[in-house]
Amino acid sequence: MPQPYDETPANLLLAELGPVYGEALALRTYTARLLGADPSLVLHGGGNTSVKGRATTLLGEDVEVVWVKASGLDLATIEPTGHVALDLARLRRLRELGELTDARLDAAVLACRLDPHAPPPSLEAPVHGFLPPRFLDHSHADAILALSNRPDGENALRRALGAEVILLPYVLPGLGLAQASAEAFAARPGALGMVWRQHGLLTWGETARESYDRHLELVERAREHLEGERARAARALRAEVDLAAARRRLAAIAPVVRGALTSLWRPAGTAPGEAGAGDRPILASFGDEATLAFLALPGARDQALTPPLTTDHLIRIGAEPLWLEAPDGAAPEDLRAKIAHAGGVAPRLILVPGAGALAVGRDVREARIAADVAAHNLAVKAAQLAAGIPYQGLAADHLQAMLTRPQQLRKLASAAAPLSGTIALVTGAAGAIGGGICRVLAASGAAVAATDLAGPTLDALAAELAADFPGLTLALPLDVTEPASVAAAFDAVALAWGGVDLVVPNAGVAHVASLEELDLETFRRLERVNSEGTLLVLAEAARRFRRQAMGGDVVLVSTKNVPAPGASFGAYSATKAAAHQLARIASLELAPLGVRVNMVAPDAVFGEGERRSGLWSEVGPSRMKARGLSATELEGYYQGRNLLKARITPQHVGEAVLFFASRKTPTTGVTLPVDGGLPDATPR
Ligand code: ZN
Repeated sequence: MPQPYDETPANLLLAELGPVYGEALALRTYTARLLGADPSLVLHGGGNTSVKGRATTLLGEDVEVVWVKASGLDLATIEPTGHVALDLARLRRLRELGELTDARLDAAVLACRLDPHAPPPSLEAPVHGFLPPRFLDHSHADAILALSNRPDGENALRRALGAEVILLPYVLPGLGLAQASAEAFAARPGALGMVWRQHGLLTWGETARESYDRHLELVERAREHLEGERARAARALRAEVDLAAARRRLAAIAPVVRGALTSLWRPAGTAPGEAGAGDRPILASFGDEATLAFLALPGARDQALTPPLTTDHLIRIGAEPLWLEAPDGAAPEDLRAKIAHAGGVAPRLILVPGAGALAVGRDVREARIAADVAAHNLAVKAAQLAAGIPYQGLAADHLQAMLTRPQQLRKLASAAAPLSGTIALVTGAAGAIGGGICRVLAASGAAVAATDLAGPTLDALAAELAADFPGLTLALPLDVTEPASVAAAFDAVALAWGGVDLVVPNAGVAHVASLEELDLETFRRLERVNSEGTLLVLAEAARRFRRQAMGGDVVLVSTKNVPAPGASFGAYSATKAAAHQLARIASLELAPLGVRVNMVAPDAVFGEGERRSGLWSEVGPSRMKARGLSATELEGYYQGRNLLKARITPQHVGEAVLFFASRKTPTTGVTLPVDGGLPDATPR
């Protein structure tokens, strides 16, 4: 529910911000945040707000300005500098210009900024300039759009909101909308606000409070009017759904969809194995009861395959979702064909009855935003269907015009990190090397599933990664010796992000004993984790890569002990050699799928502080005893024996994995030593 205006926090913020930014911007910030705090009013950078006042130009002139929210900025967390000062007199001169191309309008608005380095203001800046009231609040409130986006929308809005509200038909955002709004306002300056059909609500006032209170009042009237419909919808959407079965289906379908989308995204002529960062989408899935019940209703398909609630959602979920019938056991090729033949435009939202929804983004953040926007859109359409009301969205020509605007495209422009769009799964992540690999991959923009045995070490890593790479990592319990556990982790990653591109089998255990002393059970324990565990992870990865059909990478963490084993280290060296050989076999078997399999072979990685290497806590004591060295001296001993006298860190191993993951060279089946140079261990 929207939060009402509260004098106490308003005054606190005024005391904090007022001395620097002035009363108007301080209170503007307060109600902008209130508006942004409720996802039923605005979502992820949607909506915009403004306030008028006076400010000094770079030349020292005192002029009238309007501060308009910066484009795409999230209202919930806005700071006073998030409203950009525009020269009001200059902005209003745009009214005389009549029609302008998108590019010229964009340039003309940018030229009104007092500070040329300020961010671009909202696309709706001309509205905020042309209308006289001091404060303006604009949202895409679900309740208003639910009334607006139906065939008798005008009557529904009129009945719900009363006569004190101006109703405008849909007008393309920009100069046309600003001119139409200014004329309508001039004709009825006493109105409380204005609804733009298929777009949203605008209110105004002489104080921050007046404009915000009016906003909430009108949204509340719309909600009350919808109460009956919502009750009917709640009954209709309380169908029996099997959530577990839907989850299983969605986990199986998501990678196939993701592979098919990659084909649509990729430049023509590139082979599946050549997909790289930027070519791969991330899919955020959701399949709650209400969504599943809606998708199962008669007429859901027609109701759902319609444009979004408001223009701002277009860049997030596209003009229309894709409806994908995917019965249990459907062949991946058939699903891929359905997606490929859906019109050539890559969909941004895929609805799968009986399974749920998949929202598409270029990275984890974009996919998450798309999923949130999609959920609000589906909820409104579902409630209307349950009440027997058809949905009416934007007309097709408006959709196209809005999708190509420079101001909208700018919201999506971001420098892509080298691995953005790449989904990685690392086993044995809670160890020193595994943690280092996760960090390097996440820092490069990959979505990283850090997996290990459940327990406090994994929990600690999860907390560290979540703090350093918000939203980009996932910690999952995975026992590499249990096939069901391996499959469950891959399923969880598919549900979170849509599939997997990079698998790093790294889990391993060590033991020190001569062959004479080595007992069979210990050998078998190492064999289960190091050899069988690698086999199970490689096999599951292979099955996933095949379904996904978009290539992939495996980077096995091998060891210097494979080419150059050490005495009393037989169990480790032999079982890791088996793992290494399995990875080489995988490079042969998976190449036709465009999957590359390579190995990194570190030596003497001790790790630091909290995250000491598990291998070295096992090996260290006996080696220290054998050589009569302290822990630090032992570390120095290993450092001294390599050619470069290098101290090998988990980060170095991560960088080696990153080299293969970034696909700079067409390389598979090779081993990259990360050991500072050990001639006996150099692969030949
Ligand atoms: Zn808007």
